[in-house]
Amino acid sequence: MSSTIYQPSADFVKNANVSGMAAYQALCKEAETDYQGFWGRLAKELITWKTPFTKVLDESNAPFFKWFEDGTLNASYNCLDRNVEKGLGDKTAIIFEADGGEVTKVTYSQLLAKTCQYANALKSLGIKKGDRVVIYISMSIEGVAAMQACARIGATHSVVFGGFSAQSLRDRIEDTGAVAVITADNQVRGGKLLPLKSIVDEAINLGGCGSIKNVLVVKRSGADIAMTAGRDQWMADVADQQAATCEPEWVSAEHPLFLLYTSGSTGKPKGVQHSTGGYLLHAALTTKWTFDLKQDDVFWCTADIGWVTGHTYITYGPLALGGTEIVFEGVPTYPDAGRFWKMIQDHKVSIFYTAPTAIRSLIKAAEANDAVHPKSYNLSSLRLLGSVGEPINPAAWEWYYEHVGGSRCPIVDTFWQTETGGHMITPLPGVTPMVPGSCTLPFPGIQAAIVSETGEDMPNGQGGILVVKRPWPSMIRNIWGDPERFKKSYYPEDFKGKYYLAGDGAIRDEKTGYFTITGRIDDVLNVSGHRMGTMEIESALVSCTELVAEAAVVGRPDDTTGEAICAFVVLKRALPNTDEGKAIAKQLRDHIAKEIGPIAKPKDIRFGENLPKTRSGKIMRRLLRSLAKGEEITQDISTLENPAILGQLGQAY
Ligand code: ATP
Ligand code: MG
Repeated sequence: MSSTIYQPSADFVKNANVSGMAAYQALCKEAETDYQGFWGRLAKELITWKTPFTKVLDESNAPFFKWFEDGTLNASYNCLDRNVEKGLGDKTAIIFEADGGEVTKVTYSQLLAKTCQYANALKSLGIKKGDRVVIYISMSIEGVAAMQACARIGATHSVVFGGFSAQSLRDRIEDTGAVAVITADNQVRGGKLLPLKSIVDEAINLGGCGSIKNVLVVKRSGADIAMTAGRDQWMADVADQQAATCEPEWVSAEHPLFLLYTSGSTGKPKGVQHSTGGYLLHAALTTKWTFDLKQDDVFWCTADIGWVTGHTYITYGPLALGGTEIVFEGVPTYPDAGRFWKMIQDHKVSIFYTAPTAIRSLIKAAEANDAVHPKSYNLSSLRLLGSVGEPINPAAWEWYYEHVGGSRCPIVDTFWQTETGGHMITPLPGVTPMVPGSCTLPFPGIQAAIVSETGEDMPNGQGGILVVKRPWPSMIRNIWGDPERFKKSYYPEDFKGKYYLAGDGAIRDEKTGYFTITGRIDDVLNVSGHRMGTMEIESALVSCTELVAEAAVVGRPDDTTGEAICAFVVLKRALPNTDEGKAIAKQLRDHIAKEIGPIAKPKDIRFGENLPKTRSGKIMRRLLRSLAKGEEITQDISTLENPAILGQLGQAY
C-alpha cells in the first residue's frame, strides 16, 4: 500500500449520491443500530415489489440465510418496465459496440420488447419457473436480453463465458441440469470469427447433458452451422413471431435468479447460487453509491457478462437505475491497444470500470507507443474510474489515476467476489480519501473484519483473515446442489460457523483502518518467521517500472527458511537469455531489498512473456505454486487461458 492520500475534489463530493464522510458514517451507524431496519428501508426504496416483504432477515437456518423472503418481485420488471413506466422508454439503455466498431443502440422500450419476445419464446418451448437455462454467448444486446428473459419467466440462468471449452461448458450444463442453451452461431473477437454453436454441439456430445431439450441460436455472423432437428432452432425463428409484451413471473425474493461458476483461481469452480431480491438490491445500491450513477452518465463496465462483474454491473445494476451503458464485444487490444480510450472518447463515457490485468497490459502498450497512450485521446468525459478482480498495485493505480483519469477522477478499488454479489469493501467516490493499493473501507452495512485463524479479532496493523460478521442481502445462498461444500467453504467450523470466510487475507491500516487485501489465504508467506503477503512483493516488483510489466509471487517449501519466495516476472522487454536473466534477476533482488527489505528478496525468479491466467484474466497462482515446487501440473486447468505459457516459466534464476 502506498502512503500518498488522494482526496476526491470538493466538486465531486458536493454532487455525489453519498456526499462526504459524515454521510457515510451516518449510514454505517444506521446499519449498526438497526441492521434489519437499514436493509429493509433500502429494499423498499430501491426495489419495486409486487407484494411487500414483512420480514427482512431470517437467520433460523444459518448459514442458509433468507432475505425479504415473503416479498415477491421480478428482476426484469425492475430493470426494464419500471423505467419505461417512469418515462425513460426512449432513453438509451445500451450502446453496443461490435468488435469491428459498428454501433447499435437500444432504448429501454426496445430492450423491454426484445426481452419479452425472448421470454415468450422460452415459454413457447415449455421452459418455466425454476428451470435452468445455460447462456453461452459473447457480449451482445441479445446476451443481456436473454438473461433478462430468463429472469422474466423465473428461469434461473447460468451464463458460461464464451471463451470456455466444450469440456468446461459440458461440466456446467451437467451440474446445473439445464433444460436449454441459448447461444450464437459465432462470436467475433479481435478480428477473428470464433465458434460458439459448434462448441455447444461438442459439449452435448461429450455426454451428461441429457437434460437439454432445446438449443436456441442467435445469429451473429450468419456462417454455416449444423442444426440438430428437434433440438436446435434459430432464436429469430422462435422469437420474432412472439408478442412484445409478457407478464412477468412474480417470484419470491429468495428465488434463485442465477447460478454462476467462480473463476477457478484457487480450485475447481463452484456453482454460486444467488437470490433475486437481496441480489438485485445490492446490485442497484452499489451502482448508486459506489459508481455514483446519475441519469446523464454513460457507464462502461468492461467485464464480460460471463463473470459476476458483468452480471451485477451490466445486466442488473445500471439497468435497475435506468442508466445508459456500453456493451463491448471486442478486446482491449484490437485493432490496437488504444481501443478503450477511443471508445471512451467516442461515446463520452463518464464512468469506467475495468480490471488491473487490463490496465497493466495497456500501460505496457502505451509506454511503447504514443499513439495508443491515453494522452492521444480526449478522455475529458470521464468523472469516475473503477478497478476490480485483483489487487491493483500502486504503480498501476497511479498511472490509471494520472493518465486515464487526468488526476481528476476518483478511483474506486472495489473488493468483492462472485459469492458476494456486489461490492463489499470499496471507497465511495464522494466520501473516501483514496490510498493506492487499498480498497479502503467497508460498504455501509457490510460488517467486514479481520480475524485470526481461530476467529479472534485482529488489531489494526496486524494482518489476518478477511471475514464478514453478519449476513448481507446479496450473499451467496448455496453452492448449487452441494450445501455441505457451501458450509465447509464459507462457514467453516474454525470460525465457529459464525463468520463468512472470504478466502482472502487482509490487513487494516493502524491509523485509518483502511483495508488492504494481501492475497488469498494460502498466499500469505512465512519466510524465517516473517509473514508477508504476496501482494506486497508483487507491488514492489512492479514498482520497478523500467523493467517489469507484471509479476506474481508464490511460496514453496524451503528447508532453511520454511518458505522461499518465488517470483514470476513479465518484463517490458523480450525474454532474456541466460546471462541477461542473471543480471536482471540481480537487479530485481536489489530493488526488492531497497523497497521492502532483504528478507523479501525472491529466492527464485522466473521470466515469461505472460503469466498463466484464468479466462477472466486472473493470475492462476495455484499453477505457479506447482511450477515453483518443480511439480508436474496435474490439477484442473480447464479455466486456464494460455497453457503455452507454462513451458516458458521453467528456468529459475
Ligand atoms: P475461485 O473462487 O474459483 O478460486 P476467484 O476467487 O478468482 O475464483 P472471483 O469471485 O471471480 O473468483 O474473484 C474474487 C476474488 O478476486 C477475491 O476473493 C479476491 O481475491 C480478488 N479480488 C477481487 N476484487 C479485488 C480487489 N479490488 N482487490 C483485491 N482483490 C480482489
Ligand atoms: Mg474465490
